Amino acid sequence: MINSDYHLHSSFSSDSETPMELQIEKGIELGLENLCFTEHMDLDYPKEYGEFTFSVEEYFKKIKEMQEKYNGKINIYKGVEFGLAPTLGERYEKIANQYDFDFIIGSTHLYNNLDPYFSAYWEGKTEYQGTMMYFEKILENIKAYNNYDTLGHIDYIIRYQNRKENPDRDKILLFDNYSYSEYGDILDEILKHVIYHGKALEVNAGGYRYGLGAPNPQYSTLVRYKELGGELITIGSDAHKSEYLGYSFDRVEALLKEVGFRYYATFKKRNRIMNSLQ
Ligand SMILES: [Zn+2]
Ligand SMILES: [Zn+2]
Repeated sequence: MINSDYHLHSSFSSDSETPMELQIEKGIELGLENLCFTEHMDLDYPKEYGEFTFSVEEYFKKIKEMQEKYNGKINIYKGVEFGLAPTLGERYEKIANQYDFDFIIGSTHLYNNLDPYFSAYWEGKTEYQGTMMYFEKILENIKAYNNYDTLGHIDYIIRYQNRKENPDRDKILLFDNYSYSEYGDILDEILKHVIYHGKALEVNAGGYRYGLGAPNPQYSTLVRYKELGGELITIGSDAHKSEYLGYSFDRVEALLKEVGFRYYATFKKRNRIMNSLQ
């Protein structure tokens, strides 16, 4: 059983209003043993969308209170989700070194200040172009910044495409939304970079919540990661609300076993711990 959720948000993230306590109590109710909060830190996020950062001091103080309050019931870890950009490497490096986070997710949310969540990103681009550009940005970002533990939601751009929905997607375990070969060259480069640098690849169950019928990354991308020698994965729900904590973890587990993964990684003080999927 997957007993750790290593991607979740609370009200320290600007796009969540969920108090930490609610997430933790839900985690206990679900029987999870480890929760790692990974609050949004997107330095330079366009101001018109709101502020996407937080006070690390206040966050650590709150985590400490929570660790004391729920001691013996669940383990709580302090993580962060960095929104990478090619020019922000030094600033993130400073933050990563200054504070003792347990875990850092390196995510790509923006392409030159445009968020694919909003329609402005897609204006003047075909779906293929918009998707390719996003993958190219991931590669550029991880070439510019290496101090992270897992690569966040690699193909989450798919969430924002106008896909034709397959009504059977929830019944198909090995469901794909795109053919890997369409983006194979760029995805191969990203995956090889992740493997070469000893990073993990995140399996983000948020894809199920978005009705993709797959986590991010989808089945064929996980297969390719494994083929290329990728062994390290982390698992997270990306829950911004407590109802989504641990969401679809049973499907994630079945899918991962099918692909051939036997372990997943969690982190404590940036050190990796391997957990059995059996
Ligand atoms: Zn994210
Ligand atoms: Zn997130």
